[in-house]
Amino acid sequence: MHEIQPAAPYECPYCGEPGETVLDLSEGDHNFIEDCHVCCRPIEFHLETDGEQWDLDVRAEND
Ligand SMILES: [Zn+2]
Repeated sequence: MHEIQPAAPYECPYCGEPGETVLDLSEGDHNFIEDCHVCCRPIEFHLETDGEQWDLDVRAEND
């Protein structure tokens, strides 16, 4: 079993700062939260993947 962990660019939904997060495609569809490295607010990531193709949605908490 190989692991695919592409880096995905995103923009912070709060302050607009560009960032990058590493995706774990082996988990399938899942949500996770990372704090913005600039404004430190929690960014919600919604990842949809079939293990190869992926689509990342970035939202502000409570959005
Ligand atoms: Zn931010």
